[in-house]
Amino acid sequence: MKDDTELLAVEEARARTLALVQPLSTEWVRWEDALGRTLAEDVRAQRTLPPWDNSAMDGFAVRSADLSAPMPVRLRVGETIYAGQTPREQVRPGTCARIMTGAPLPAGADAVVMRERTRLTPEGDAVDILEGVGPGNFVRPRGEDAREGEVLLPRGTPLGIPELGLLLGQGRTSVPVPRRPRVAILSTGDELCPADAPAEGRIVDANAPALSLAVMRAGGLPSVLGIARDTREDVSRLLAAAEGHDLVLTSAGMSVGEHDFVREALAQLGVAQDFWRVAIKPGKPLAVGRKGGTLYCGLPGNPTSSLVTFELFVRPALRRMLGHADVEPPRVPGRLAGELKKAPGLDHYIRVTATWQEGELWARPLATQTSGALRSAASATHLLHFPRHSSRLATGDKVELLPLSWSA
Ligand code: AMP
Ligand code: MG
Repeated sequence: MKDDTELLAVEEARARTLALVQPLSTEWVRWEDALGRTLAEDVRAQRTLPPWDNSAMDGFAVRSADLSAPMPVRLRVGETIYAGQTPREQVRPGTCARIMTGAPLPAGADAVVMRERTRLTPEGDAVDILEGVGPGNFVRPRGEDAREGEVLLPRGTPLGIPELGLLLGQGRTSVPVPRRPRVAILSTGDELCPADAPAEGRIVDANAPALSLAVMRAGGLPSVLGIARDTREDVSRLLAAAEGHDLVLTSAGMSVGEHDFVREALAQLGVAQDFWRVAIKPGKPLAVGRKGGTLYCGLPGNPTSSLVTFELFVRPALRRMLGHADVEPPRVPGRLAGELKKAPGLDHYIRVTATWQEGELWARPLATQTSGALRSAASATHLLHFPRHSSRLATGDKVELLPLSWSA
């Protein structure tokens, strides 16, 4: 076995994983399926929005030049223009029009005075303007949101709710995006049984369903291929069934135990291993390789280790396949509530529950940190990064926290 000095640093392992993938081919999808994905092409505006100058307030459309006299200024009131109507009259000197929010500005007018700054005469045919305004006051200019022909959103833009709203405002109901990664998931281990067929003396396969949920959350399309026995043949058989996917996730069988056949089976299949074993806890026995257009990630078997390595290495790779430029795990500053000790050498990712107190995020380590028990990951909100060379962290120390994509 290699000793710990030969382990790959976390950042390098992630950089090497990311170097093996790129955005997938483009497909057109309707807006309902586009949220969280990215634009595969520049999108140009097909129409100018708003299509005309319009009022930002309920009030009176005026000629601002009429309001240079001492206040109040009395103007004769012409037509009333509601949103959705077309103005019929021109606003001439000494007159104005009643106008509602969103209604087109009538010809002749260049400003809107809000109703609260006016007083209608009892007869209702004239209004006293109580405050002078300059040209453009409360006018939303034509083309403020979009001008026909301009690039509205460039390629690579992540599609959140306002972005999709903007595109729908253009009459675009479909958008070009990188297609979703197809991800094959397989578990390995003689001790495992499927959750819907639990067997005496066996352990339920928790990794395949957990990873498949994590893949869905990350925007991928998981397919669970099943459980391979701890034999070269059975691991190879399932790996063969996984060919053609964009990503293959295996769990367990990655160490140097006598029944750990995954790396051997991957090599036999022609997968070029890029690295194996990372200076991290939990999650050390991670292996990554590629064959053709398929990325292979051999994740550790311990349920929490497989989720931590998913978060730190697999999710970034899926995000890159989906066209995101920002793929690094998100981080926020916080402070440690408690004390942590370890030997230097590995980056530790400690499961914590972080709460906001007096302007800062305070991270409390969960009592169990074993990677075998999923319970140690339940109720964690963040992973606290306990750096490689550090051996002690004390209460109040500044720490880096990674928000988890697992939590509810
Ligand atoms: P291994 O890497 O094969 O030595 O497995 C490490 C530990 O994780 C062992 O205790 C396994 O029983 C456990 N394990 C492996 N795969 C799974 C799985 N799919 N679900 C739950 N536990 C697993
Ligand atoms: Mg095993």
